[in-house]
Amino acid sequence: MGKIVTKFGGSSLSDASQFQKVKSILDMDKRRCYVVPSAPGRRFDGDDKITDLLYQSYHLVQDGKDFKPVFEKIRERFVGIKQELGLEIDISEYLDEVEKDIASGASADYCASRGEYLNGLLLADYLGFMFLDPKDFIFFNKNGTFNSERTNDALTALLKYCQKAVIPGFYGSLDEEIHTFSRGGSDISGAIVARAAKAEMYENWTDVSGFLMADPRVVPGAKGISNVTYRELRELSYMGASVLHEDSVFPVHRAGIPTNIRNTNAPDDPGTYISHTMPDDENPDVITGVAGKLGFSVISVEKAMMNVEHGFGRRVLQAIEENNLSFEHMPTGIDTLCVVVATADLEPVRQSVINRIVELTNPDTLTIHDDMGIIATVGRGMVHNPGTAARLFMALSSAHVNVRMIDQGSSELSILVGVDSADFQPAIRAIYHEFVKD
Ligand code: ASP
Repeated sequence: MGKIVTKFGGSSLSDASQFQKVKSILDMDKRRCYVVPSAPGRRFDGDDKITDLLYQSYHLVQDGKDFKPVFEKIRERFVGIKQELGLEIDISEYLDEVEKDIASGASADYCASRGEYLNGLLLADYLGFMFLDPKDFIFFNKNGTFNSERTNDALTALLKYCQKAVIPGFYGSLDEEIHTFSRGGSDISGAIVARAAKAEMYENWTDVSGFLMADPRVVPGAKGISNVTYRELRELSYMGASVLHEDSVFPVHRAGIPTNIRNTNAPDDPGTYISHTMPDDENPDVITGVAGKLGFSVISVEKAMMNVEHGFGRRVLQAIEENNLSFEHMPTGIDTLCVVVATADLEPVRQSVINRIVELTNPDTLTIHDDMGIIATVGRGMVHNPGTAARLFMALSSAHVNVRMIDQGSSELSILVGVDSADFQPAIRAIYHEFVKD
């Protein structure tokens, strides 16, 4: 029988009734044998996330202040879940130990990780699964980066002997000390477990039924995406569409395991299915989604005959590199080269970048255009559909959007346009409505 690794986010495990939903989801399919929980999230608007309370406790201790009132809220949540579900586990004993460690100045990572740890203990008890502590098999390198191969070897070996397990998300160890991923990192833990288990599917259960074709705050009622490839997803999430932690894509993508984003509160919704490749005929829409980000500046360097001057591009990029800037895109024309950078990063080194480019390339003109938004229209179907770009630009022109930069990613998976911030939302709406018919 194939295996499915399920990761449940904080809102999916925020209280006892959510735990019950999780159990019935697992009961529905016996292949769901490894479970990666987050810490309990918000139960309602304005509620606390346990991870936030743990970080708060850490900071209070650091500042020499009383963290007990905050820890009481943490204790109440876990004890409440245990009591409502009638569990055997003595969670108070574990809570006492965590409280003692926090009081004695445990690290921020240790404190934060205890939300997943305690939730994992409760869930394992409730499901009757084994509890596996990731400190023993999710490893980080000395510089804090994730050690994927050592982890994969250790976890693969362990899972061979363990048919059903709860493995808390978000943390592992670095030199025997607890170390966490960045916020939202349980998604990464789930993907790591899926790879080690050679799962046939990585299910990521959250509180939405998958990805939407556009940000619903910009396009109210935006349709859901049912199928997307990892490469498309990477382009969409890089441009701001977020449901999954960006780094969670790599372990499963590389291992050829599909991911399915599902909704714990609507388990019958098929959600979004993400896979390596998709037969062309499975995508009836020309585009898969449209996403964008604000806060960019475009540095345009113009020089007649630039195209025959050897090393011109390298020198512009050298100026960027010397100022410790990373660039996002680099559309070029015959006599113009543009480098798109985040305005916040450019700000402190703006003059020094200008001076260095001038010094190195002696351009005819150098201009910087701030206040830009970049919009990516992404779709594996675009390559095969002649006229897609024409439709996109017609739609923008009908919406009176002035396009300041165009870049068709070399992957041919996306068309990027740069627009003034004021045009950002109208442009996204125009593109969406051009391609997506209700
Ligand atoms: N609990 C952690 C956070 O709030 C990790 C996660 O939920 O994925 O960031």
